[in-house]
Amino acid sequence: MGHDHSQHSDDNRLEALLTGITLVGMALATLDAFALPGIWGPVGLAAVYLAAGVPTLASALRELWHHRRLDIDLLMALAALAALVVGAALEGAVLLTLFAISETLEHRAMGRARRAVEALMALRPDSAFLKTAEGVTEVASDRLVPGDIVVIRPGGRVPSDGVIVGGEASMDLSTLTGESMPVHKGPGDKVFEATVNLNAVLEVRITRAVAESTVARMVQLVTEAQAAKAPSERFSDWFGQRYTVLVLLGSGLAYLAFLALGAGHDIALYRAATLLVAASPCAVVISVPAAILSALSAAARGGVLFKGGAALENLAAVRAFAFDKTGTLTTGRAEVTGIHAADPTRFLRLIGGLEAQSEHPIADAIRRRLAAEGLTPAPVTDVQAHPSEGITGRDDDGAIWAGNARMAARMGATLPHLDGVSDGAETLIWLGRGAQLLGGTTVADRPRDSSRAALAGLKAAGTEIALMTGDRRPVALRIGAELGLSAPEIHADLLPEDKVRLVGKLAESGRVAYVGDGVNDAAALARADVGIAMGAAGSEVALQAADVALLSDEMGQLAAAQRLAKRTARVIRQNLAFALGAMVLLVMGGLFFELPLPLAVLGHEGGTVLVVLNGLRLLADPIRKV
Ligand code: ADP
Ligand code: MG
Repeated sequence: MGHDHSQHSDDNRLEALLTGITLVGMALATLDAFALPGIWGPVGLAAVYLAAGVPTLASALRELWHHRRLDIDLLMALAALAALVVGAALEGAVLLTLFAISETLEHRAMGRARRAVEALMALRPDSAFLKTAEGVTEVASDRLVPGDIVVIRPGGRVPSDGVIVGGEASMDLSTLTGESMPVHKGPGDKVFEATVNLNAVLEVRITRAVAESTVARMVQLVTEAQAAKAPSERFSDWFGQRYTVLVLLGSGLAYLAFLALGAGHDIALYRAATLLVAASPCAVVISVPAAILSALSAAARGGVLFKGGAALENLAAVRAFAFDKTGTLTTGRAEVTGIHAADPTRFLRLIGGLEAQSEHPIADAIRRRLAAEGLTPAPVTDVQAHPSEGITGRDDDGAIWAGNARMAARMGATLPHLDGVSDGAETLIWLGRGAQLLGGTTVADRPRDSSRAALAGLKAAGTEIALMTGDRRPVALRIGAELGLSAPEIHADLLPEDKVRLVGKLAESGRVAYVGDGVNDAAALARADVGIAMGAAGSEVALQAADVALLSDEMGQLAAAQRLAKRTARVIRQNLAFALGAMVLLVMGGLFFELPLPLAVLGHEGGTVLVVLNGLRLLADPIRKV
């Protein structure tokens, strides 16, 4: 990466130098035509042809030789050469100059879009305060290893991902999630690299080395996404190739036709060169990447990671959104609300042992309850998760299990009727040893504050919504009602494969997005046209399976992401329409109205710069909520 970087800036500097020489040369040549006769005119022209013409021709020949591709550089070099041959050297120089200027602007603009995310890297602190037995010492951040304890002072940035072990603070997460509201964090909460501790002294146990941190993965993902081509981009590449050949042939034919119509050789060649420039597809080819690159960067800065332009284009066309419930529409921070067992302490220790390693929000709730009561989990081995059913394992007395009614039925256990609980709208988790039931616990989860508004926004935009959960129907109905969903939109008691099947069914009538947290729904994330991982600053599975990751827990980001995708699609359409329209006009001018070469060049390069700037508008789009 370091190498790439310096390579880029070297290229940029060379390009700037050559463009500078070209501009000076052009100024001399122009002055010569009006005021300053003598040696300076030819010198200026020579400078333009050398500084702008030779590199263009060289790059065209390289492309032809190495990749067997005809590109636009070739068209420009040929047109300039033709102008030189027919004695219109000044006009050829105008062409080369404008081409050089527009190329420089284009590279600058695209580089800016590409680097918008790398700016994040600059926010990572270089050093950290490591706490050791001897005291606190300052070390380089990239020397930190998981398990290290670091001290973060007020105003300091987190040196790598970790968990708070001491202190409470307001954290500014805007670098990562785009959210500008500070978030309160305390012991047990995760913190992420490059976020800011606003007001207190924190002790953090590092969980990831700097190279594997969320920011590092984010930059890597976006870099990969920028390299992956969107379908429409592939089309414009394909089109550009075929079309370039066509333009070459067409201009050759036009030259012959002008000759046949009685034009002199020089006039015919000049007009053919004008056509060559008029018909060049520069603007068409850059239309799509300019928009996509800007949108990908704008999204990443707002905490929305698209894995490629294709995800962006798909999201713009999504007709139905399916949502996982637990951990997605709900906070994922569930609470144990009741325990029904003859020996509650033993019950909690056993179920705590089973859930000790599980990443399910229910397991998290049980662990927190254990901690609150000062209990330690019982030793349990051979732990195995059964997606959307529960978990099994083994203690000194044999096999044990915890899970929902489906799991209980599988174990042959009959469930008692608990008054006021069994018909209630809370998640019920049972614990058993074979067919023998040891007790049950209720767990309640509540919707994220941002869920209801986000769903309403999506519905208002005409999108179909479905809630898909492995939880019981009464719970699903209650949460659904709190979110403004009606019964037909709610699907409960699902296994992971049921979610995949339902997503497939929705996909029959249009593109589907599935929004999940990666727990028990990675398959559905992968099946959907657009898999969207929620709050991915944590879950590795989700980040793997999804096409889009929302780093923040803010549901509003979802609607913002879709708006950005739609705006991007619109900008691409505008760009293509404008670029094709301008091309048609210029070609008409060249064929029928003796359009002068410099005007064709101006129209062509002006159009190219305009579509790039139009694409760049997306970079300024505020996906982050203020
Ligand atoms: P959702 O689809 O809402 O995210 P899941 O598919 O993750 O829900 O889980 C569905 C149900 O499976 C839970 O409500 C719970 O009853 C049971 N379950 C899943 N994992 C566990 C676990 N680790 N411990 C106990 N029960 C579990
Ligand atoms: Mg879930």
